[in-house]
Amino acid sequence: MHLIVTEKDLAAKRIAEILSDGAASAAKVAGANAYRFDSTVVLGLRGHIVKLDFPDGYRDWKTNLHDLIRADVVTVPTHKNIVSGLKRAAKEADRVTIATDFDTEGELIGLEACTIVKSVKDVGVDRVRFSAMTPVEVTRAFQSPAGIDLNLAYSGEARQAVDLIWGAALTRFISTAAKRLGNRFLSAGRVQSPTLALIVDRERVIAQFVAEPYWEVHVDLSKDGETFHAKHQADRFQDKATAAAAMDNIDDTATVLAFAKSERVDAPPKPFNTTEFLAAASALGISASRAMDTAERLYTAGWISYPRTDNTVYPSELDLRVLVGMFTSGPFAENARTLLQKKQLVATRGKKQTTDHPPIYPTMRATQTDLEPQSWKVYELVVRRFFATLSDAARWCTKKATLDSHGERFKATGLELSHQGWRYHYPYARTQERHLPDLDTGEVLAVANKQLVQKETQPPQRWGQGQLIKKMEELGLGTKSTRHEIITKLAQRGYVDVSPLRPTGIACRVTQSLERYAPTITKPEMTRLLEEEMEKVKAGHLSKEFVVVNSRDMLDKVLSTLDERHEEISTALQQGLRDDATVGTCPECGSNLVVRRSKRGGRFVGCSGYPKCTFGLPLPKSGRLRITARKCKQHDMRLIKVQSGKRYWDLGCPQCNYTSWKEKNNGTSA
Ligand SMILES: [Zn+2]
Ligand SMILES: [Zn+2]
Repeated sequence: MHLIVTEKDLAAKRIAEILSDGAASAAKVAGANAYRFDSTVVLGLRGHIVKLDFPDGYRDWKTNLHDLIRADVVTVPTHKNIVSGLKRAAKEADRVTIATDFDTEGELIGLEACTIVKSVKDVGVDRVRFSAMTPVEVTRAFQSPAGIDLNLAYSGEARQAVDLIWGAALTRFISTAAKRLGNRFLSAGRVQSPTLALIVDRERVIAQFVAEPYWEVHVDLSKDGETFHAKHQADRFQDKATAAAAMDNIDDTATVLAFAKSERVDAPPKPFNTTEFLAAASALGISASRAMDTAERLYTAGWISYPRTDNTVYPSELDLRVLVGMFTSGPFAENARTLLQKKQLVATRGKKQTTDHPPIYPTMRATQTDLEPQSWKVYELVVRRFFATLSDAARWCTKKATLDSHGERFKATGLELSHQGWRYHYPYARTQERHLPDLDTGEVLAVANKQLVQKETQPPQRWGQGQLIKKMEELGLGTKSTRHEIITKLAQRGYVDVSPLRPTGIACRVTQSLERYAPTITKPEMTRLLEEEMEKVKAGHLSKEFVVVNSRDMLDKVLSTLDERHEEISTALQQGLRDDATVGTCPECGSNLVVRRSKRGGRFVGCSGYPKCTFGLPLPKSGRLRITARKCKQHDMRLIKVQSGKRYWDLGCPQCNYTSWKEKNNGTSA
């Protein structure tokens, strides 16, 4: 029997379908999902079915951390039913083919499966690799199997070990110091902590930002009944008096001093790698983790190529014309025909070129009825981006005018799209057009309106998920496969509110403590160094043991510094947690309002001045409460979110919430 092992059940189904021409049928092997045809069984794993963990003696959080990080980590099964299914199938197999995803994680999952297989039977194991789940690609891969790339798998294993050791040691240290154990623990980690520090630092810049007022002087001018806008050349006036003087100076007319037209070339975008894809999806309002999930499903079903890739250059083997040709009917027919009219299809190239996977491109034509709405949105984005990368530059006509009104200089600009180019295919990137009529030097125009506008300087904006992922890539934090997961984890741990990314109070406290007493943990340098070492493991220049030992030494030093400052860290964190639990100030006595429990087990916002003060506001019975950093402007109370399961809902300001509840109830009883 020929046993084929894939990373997920869906992939097993798809590969069995392709290899058997649709003749395969579902068949369970022990607890694992499998598909059978002729004398072949295709078995789907569930990603990793084993994990690294500390041996039994080290589970206790009281274990000395210096001992913990030196402990030998062991492999334990996480999906026992699939492990036993794999063993059962392996016993009957005379050939095993690993067909997991083609990347570090996939190679490691393959090696894990291979180890399980070899533990029950000494059988030949080979490996197939492909970047698209299409009949052509899969069949080609099965015609030329190779071996498992051990170095690639080892680099994945080194990462797992290092992340486990760092995560466990730092999390235990921080949680113990804050006296937050059990399910309310505070996590920290090798990639997580520097990423959180980025968000916290950004918030700090925003908080320290002092808005400064400035003034602008605008005029509306008219030509042949058409009005356009011009702004004073001084742009921003720092004081009102100067701006007002300029304003007073303006005449009923303005003379055109100069007018120029030019053309701006707007180059088409680069092919999608994971980071660029996630950034674009996030701009459409799809969170990074949802976008990645959706893209993976689209890949497994054969619609798009493998979505985990750093590459931004299409390989020369990719027949672009054939790919565009798939779309000559269906919803993108117009787009495809436009592109095929070109004599030659030349694609844009990004800066990163790798050989493992191509950039993300569509591998099959779908119509809207083939996919769920969310999947369609992502698929359409991939198709449109692909078209855009093969398209001409867009062209803009820009106009610039300088005008004078009684000695005051004004400037006006116009921007019009003169050639759509790639923007025809990719309507997501919007730039507003601004109309400016053609003007002649020396022409005198009537001033229709003038305005003095007060504005203030704005703080930098909080990051969206896509921007943060780009920043992480720039700093070498995490990998294409893990960056979006890190953000999800930070949200789950109560460290950030997503979209836009905003740290919670405790996130700031933990980061401050680490920055102050063990800055290496929050800086990207150390984790980038480890990433570089892991690249060397991939290339076979370093052993995984060396990397793990080296990172243990690094962590040992970090822990020693933390140990020395244990008291200070503990005090700071506990103070932070208390501040964090404060909802606001009591309107009746001025003490702190905190979340309290009633004798009957209910919860409410109560006054810490109790029993002297009995002020209270109700809270919902169930769900985990999260006191956010934002405040109600009217009551100066912090807004509350309630987590039930994986979802959050906004309770908002507890005072506003109670007032509106009371009004509604009075309404119904009246
Ligand atoms: Zn009170
Ligand atoms: Zn309120």
